[in-house]
Amino acid sequence: MTTGKSMEQPAAELSERLPGRVLLPGDDGFAQELDGFNQISEHSPDMIAVVADAADVREAVSFAAARGLPVAVQATGHGPSTAADGGLLISTRLLRGVSIDPAARIARVEGGAQWFEVIEAAAEHGLAPLNGSSPLTGVIGYTLGGGLGLMARKYGYAADHVTAVEIVTADGQSHRATADQDTDLFWAARGGKGNFGVVTAIEFRLVPVSRLYGGGLFFAGEATADVVHAWREWTASVPEDLTSSLALLRMPDIEAVPPFLRGRLTVHVRIAYLGSAEEGKQLVAPLRSAGPLVVDTLAEMPYTAAGEIHNDPTEPIPYSERSMMLRTLDEAAVDALLELAGPGADCIDLVVELRQLGGAVGRPSVVPNAVDHRDAAFALSTLSLPDDRPPLVVDGMAPWGTGRRYLNFLAGPDSSRLAESGYEPATFSRLAAIKARVDPDNLFRFNHNIAPRP
Ligand SMILES: Cc1cc2nc3c(=O)[nH]c(=O)nc-3n(C[C@H](O)[C@H](O)[C@H](O)COP(=O)(O)OP(=O)(O)OC[C@H]3O[C@@H](n4cnc5c(N)ncnc54)[C@H](O)[C@@H]3O)c2cc1C
Repeated sequence: MTTGKSMEQPAAELSERLPGRVLLPGDDGFAQELDGFNQISEHSPDMIAVVADAADVREAVSFAAARGLPVAVQATGHGPSTAADGGLLISTRLLRGVSIDPAARIARVEGGAQWFEVIEAAAEHGLAPLNGSSPLTGVIGYTLGGGLGLMARKYGYAADHVTAVEIVTADGQSHRATADQDTDLFWAARGGKGNFGVVTAIEFRLVPVSRLYGGGLFFAGEATADVVHAWREWTASVPEDLTSSLALLRMPDIEAVPPFLRGRLTVHVRIAYLGSAEEGKQLVAPLRSAGPLVVDTLAEMPYTAAGEIHNDPTEPIPYSERSMMLRTLDEAAVDALLELAGPGADCIDLVVELRQLGGAVGRPSVVPNAVDHRDAAFALSTLSLPDDRPPLVVDGMAPWGTGRRYLNFLAGPDSSRLAESGYEPATFSRLAAIKARVDPDNLFRFNHNIAPRP
């Protein structure tokens, strides 16, 4: 890669096109601009363009394409994969516009917005987006990867509800891809993550949800086996109005962690139920008695408080994330998981999470997209501090896996080589062929990369 002094001249040219918004290594603000939530992938671009609108994005991409500079895109840093090694990093942080059409129940969201902004804007109209567990993740990165949210079993993947994608492709041109125009790009962008260009805005349907019964049940680690078995059995009978997940938490003994979680194993069951609180209490009753409860936060809540269901961390931390979609979670699978990650296991993962799928996530999108996994019953993922050990839990659960991974739950510099396993072979081939047409030089390669293959 070209670095250092040799980049000053090109950077000056880009600065003329984007005054005040181009940063070189060593400039004030360069390091801060790279700072993201998950610091596992250390980006070292030759320059950063902090774009403020779609015209800036076209300028930046055209500039990079003309010089053969690879392009990375960062909004919040919640989903790092291949680290940018040289090239141009486009920071979408300033692209924050969010507008709601309440009559059509459609949101239009710009390239760097975060979920909390959409949640708040939609709530004014009694509506909600299909966001995930953390309100701080970027809307675009989450949705392009599929988007497995708090109401997934009721409404499906967030990508299934996208109605338009505005994207600047490697030739520096803007496209508005919909079900009727630029249809290949529309299909590929919804599931193919950042491989096809810089998304400057998307439009998607909102759902009529303003409240739910939700929160978390935290059980003492000694009860892990009882709770995981009880949760598995319970998930077989719950309606699609209920989406839940279970996490084995091994939090470090540090001040940033709530005292009841510090330095011990805890089981966290998270619930989002769209029916009444009364029905919710009855549905959850068998779980509450699965073991000694340490904390119970289940309650009627406004949808604006839905981030409290998982209560994800908000302070930056470097970690790698691995995933595996499970075909089934039978009794033997739970026993295997307990061997790998239960009390007494030599498990280094801070979090081992199971999310129940099925319901609407098991059905294909009405307008087909590149999100697979409709055959999976559960999503398994693990989060661990940087370590050289192989991902023992995910590997150990392979006998129950579909052989596919969920890209949004793969983070770390080496996660890019796993991108192919995010798709069925036919989906991956079609994505690679579309990539060969719209980005033949693989300009957008600092991501879960799909190399062009005509
Ligand atoms: C705490 C936490 C909770 C999460 N919860 C969920 C969840 O419930 N469900 C779920 O599905 N995922 C979840 N994720 C994963 C998250 O959705 C992905 O990591 C997502 O990629 C984050 O996007 P970002 O823009 O915030 O991150 P960034 O690291 O800024 O971007 C990640 C990648 O997204 C792409 N990208 C981002 N913006 C654009 C753009 N404008 N144009 C083109 N490409 C772009 C790029 O390829 C970029 O490399 C969670 C992650 C974290 C850290």
